[in-house]
Amino acid sequence: MAQKILSFYPGPSQLKPAIGGYMAEAVESGLLSMNHRSPAFVDLAKETEALLAARFSLPKGYRVMFAGSATECWAIVAHSFASLNSLHVFNGAFGEKWFQSRQRLYQNTLAFPFHCQRSLGMNGLKKMPGPDMVCLTQNETSNGTRIGNKTLEAIRKVFPGALIAVDATSSMGGVETHWHKAGIWFASVQKCFGLPAGLAVLICSPDALDLAAKLGHTAHYNNLQALHLMAQRHQTVHTPNVLGIYLLMRSLRNSPTLAVTAGLLKKRASEMYAFLVKHGYRPLVGNSRVRSHTVLAVEGRPAFVSALKAAAFENGILLGNGYGAWKENTFRIANFPALSAADFETLKSFLAAHSPKTTA
Ligand SMILES: *Cc1c(COP(=O)(O)O)cnc(C)c1O
Repeated sequence: MAQKILSFYPGPSQLKPAIGGYMAEAVESGLLSMNHRSPAFVDLAKETEALLAARFSLPKGYRVMFAGSATECWAIVAHSFASLNSLHVFNGAFGEKWFQSRQRLYQNTLAFPFHCQRSLGMNGLKKMPGPDMVCLTQNETSNGTRIGNKTLEAIRKVFPGALIAVDATSSMGGVETHWHKAGIWFASVQKCFGLPAGLAVLICSPDALDLAAKLGHTAHYNNLQALHLMAQRHQTVHTPNVLGIYLLMRSLRNSPTLAVTAGLLKKRASEMYAFLVKHGYRPLVGNSRVRSHTVLAVEGRPAFVSALKAAAFENGILLGNGYGAWKENTFRIANFPALSAADFETLKSFLAAHSPKTTA
């Protein structure tokens, strides 16, 4: 057995401490041997949907559905809105991958890359041919940047008629979100939710679902219309990850509201950025307005970064590797709700003791 490690990896991430107990409960309950059309499953799905809507303050009529991963949600959105011109606005690896996966399937896909050090300006966007759909990444996990609610509102104003789809994989459940400003939100649960991988939450507005029905692109098994039809009966098209849904339900029962969690994480993120700077670490993103509240990317010489990660591991701490273009010269720190104040104190003492100031 590997030693137990405290993980600051931004996904799969540190599990919420209660998960082991919830797993045993799920087995005990017999639910995992129940048919996914049974009343027992329907009750579980209903409760999970209701808890999510309540904790996250979802607008009335927004529907919660289940999928297997964020990557699958990219495909669901691509197939269900195949005939729409899709504009992908991104500044990092995940947004770019979503763009590429859509473009491989459908030609009517355009990219609007922007620089990760800058706030997304609207002047360039205004010059783009008006899209039917805009795809955004709320929190770019690869470089630790975010698209805040104000920027989302500005994008909406530039393209008032467009459907907006948001990949919120490393932020859902951790940041204040203006749900009504987009028609589609999705996230897999192995990041900010602190749950095991293999489940994604897909949240759609009534307008987005109506549009999918009107377009009628139903050739693929995981199309939004089929998902929605089944979701009206609190079921799924295929046999879902019942254990994952159970863990989500149990963890939501014991979670505070999103407003409370988001407030805590925002405060902890700004304290962490200040701590890092004070100890000679350099956040990858200089512009504090676009820095993520949930994934902190820190830049350093590749030799320093790899030595630091190795030393952390020896001390029972897992730091996140850099990702994509930032693989060698950054490390990442997850600031997810599953991590406690004590966990961050442990991390801070380690980082203080191994500061670039002392090892330079
Ligand atoms: C991790 C991640 C994904 C991929 O999630 P899977 O569950 O592996 O499909 C997609 N988008 C973002 C922003 C991510 O952070």
